[in-house]
Amino acid sequence: MGEPFPLRGFVCCDDCGTPLTACWSTSKSGKKHPYYLCHAKGCPSYRKSIRRDVLEGEFATLMQGLAPSEGIFAYAKRMFKDAWSQRSVQAEANKRVLRKERDQLTKQIEGLMDRIVEADSPTIITAYEKRIEKMERTKLILDEKLEKQPVKANTFEQLFEHAMEFLSNPWNLWESENLLGRKKVLRLAFADRISYSRENGLRTPKTTLPFKVLAGFSSQKCEMAEAQGFEPWEAFTSSVFKTGAFDHSAKPPRSNSFNAKVLILKDTFGGNLRSL
Ligand SMILES: [Zn+2]
Repeated sequence: MGEPFPLRGFVCCDDCGTPLTACWSTSKSGKKHPYYLCHAKGCPSYRKSIRRDVLEGEFATLMQGLAPSEGIFAYAKRMFKDAWSQRSVQAEANKRVLRKERDQLTKQIEGLMDRIVEADSPTIITAYEKRIEKMERTKLILDEKLEKQPVKANTFEQLFEHAMEFLSNPWNLWESENLLGRKKVLRLAFADRISYSRENGLRTPKTTLPFKVLAGFSSQKCEMAEAQGFEPWEAFTSSVFKTGAFDHSAKPPRSNSFNAKVLILKDTFGGNLRSL
């Protein structure tokens, strides 16, 4: 078995905000019972134990609730895919522009070289040389930019197969703990630690953007989302923007829906999910 207290350090005491610790307590019969507890001195919940099965049971319900319905998931997947291909098209266009600029510079430099050969005046030659130097520097910058461009656009499936699997059912990954560290699952699913109150149980968690997007989607009228021709990104982005997930006070997404899509994509797959 893995870690006996997978939520230790992640779930916090609702009274004082300190991450819960865990312990085994031995009953009179000598049997060991697992507990979570707050270990902050002065906290009203100090050393008041929470049974592990109670807390983890609530957590299971919560995680299972993150999984979107099949319809919503399929729809969201199409949206992500669409945004990804738009992004790939954009990247290809950027590369073309950079290459063209570079070719033009090369030609201009060659032209100046020819002129240097024909020139007699040292002053003019020096002036040409200076211009060439400047152009060469610009060329280096372009080379660097080109190097940073993705070599070949991977297909959506190649990159995001696992990420999609995770989004469709994070609980599965949590359960099969050998597939992915549980800490990583927590990090991918929740934007922050979750509080546990001894009276009210687990507090509503702050999920990460992809789950917020999916949840926003589910709470929109589903019939609308399922209908053809509905532009869901607007629904998406407006609900996402309201959460304050984007700190820049961006333009209304309506006028800038491509960028909004790319932002969501970047946030969704940036680093973590992509490397799943
Ligand atoms: Zn506490």
